[in-house]
Amino acid sequence: MKELNPYEMALQQLDRVAEMIDLDPGVHEILKKPKRELTVNFPVRMDDDSINVFTGYRVQHNLARGPAKGGIRYSPDTSLDEVRALAMWMTWKCALARLPYGGAKGGVICDPKSLSKRELEHLTRRYATEISIIIGPNSDIPAPDAYTNAQVMAWIMDTYSMHAGHSVPGVVTGKPISIGGSEGRFEATGRGCAIVINEAVKRLNVGPLDSMTVAIQGSGNVGGVTAKLLHEMGCKIIAISDSKSGIYNPHGLDIPSVLEHKQNSGALSGSQEAESITNAELLELDCTLLVPAALQGQITEENADRIRAKIIAEGANGPTTSAADRILADKGVFIIPDILANAGGVTVSYFEWVQDLQSFFWSEAEVNKRLKDIMIRSFEEVFSTAQSYKTDMRTAAYILAVNRVAEAILVRGIYP
Ligand code: NAD
Repeated sequence: MKELNPYEMALQQLDRVAEMIDLDPGVHEILKKPKRELTVNFPVRMDDDSINVFTGYRVQHNLARGPAKGGIRYSPDTSLDEVRALAMWMTWKCALARLPYGGAKGGVICDPKSLSKRELEHLTRRYATEISIIIGPNSDIPAPDAYTNAQVMAWIMDTYSMHAGHSVPGVVTGKPISIGGSEGRFEATGRGCAIVINEAVKRLNVGPLDSMTVAIQGSGNVGGVTAKLLHEMGCKIIAISDSKSGIYNPHGLDIPSVLEHKQNSGALSGSQEAESITNAELLELDCTLLVPAALQGQITEENADRIRAKIIAEGANGPTTSAADRILADKGVFIIPDILANAGGVTVSYFEWVQDLQSFFWSEAEVNKRLKDIMIRSFEEVFSTAQSYKTDMRTAAYILAVNRVAEAILVRGIYP
């Protein structure tokens, strides 16, 4: 059976919760569609002097709770529907963490691995210019996502600032610390993920952290940091992967040396004894915890039945399809949904923005403490909602988030 596209999946999730919470039909209609969508087709001069035209998007889903917030991804496979879904998930994620933001997302269709640094800079600066009509520190604040990083954010901040005639650090988050980035932002998503995993373990009968085996799909910002922190917490990381393949050792991997080797050589394998496995095999390993931290649509109705993990913490956005969700629920798998598990990134992005607006910067300890407080509060709210509604964690997270957004829409009223 054909898998749903991400936007259809996001709409199905919304429809399901709308019915459960008896959502006002007018508000439901508002939330189904993004408020604003910008498509930009723009030229970039390549290193060989030819001109390539790229397509990019910036979608703002809902702004009832505050300015739009969401990352930008560079990928050959991104599409308007993918960006729409990701923007909607940002609306829910910000509401769930009680951040004063609406949801947005951006994407450029490109293969970042085939671009030189100069081409990447030119593409970024032109894309930033094209979307500058809707982004800004009070309106829409981008951040990194898959295949964008602090350097890309620095180019966007600089481009926007050049047009404004003065520095505007608050226009993006996830920047280098030297230009107004926050301590702790690089690690924030993985750190938040590790915090909620710890909370889940305390409440479930899966044994202590140091008896747990973990498989992690992806070793980028989210996967790499989550692996590092869980390893420090005593978990046995038995497998980790990148876009090419994964490595597996049932006795546990020495994660710091795997990540260092990846940093130096570009490959995961080679630093220690481990079997090579595919990304598909990694998902089906016998382990306590599975952390999909790469792409959406990885756990589907095709493979859900073969998943053996007891807990899934969704580091990536949308890694589990709705059909797979139902199969996993029947199997009793405890899922920490993306809008909770990976909310650490946008939470510290919020801290970065607050620091930029005040030009007053916090220590890493202060950032990490505030992050921990928010992640634990969110986990507790979702867990107790799941219990009172007798439902799963994803549905509970949606109940809280959609209700908060609906309340903001209704109290603001429909203009004019
Ligand atoms: P990244 O670019 O740093 O890393 C992506 C990882 O995925 C890399 O290890 C890459 O090798 C791997 N990958 C790429 N294609 C793959 C494939 N076909 N199969 C398996 N692995 C593949 O990106 P990231 O920032 O770590 O983002 C990963 C996910 O987490 C995305 O879904 C993103 O939306 C989500 N997310 C990121 C943040 C953040 O702060 N960076 C916050 C919330 C959610």
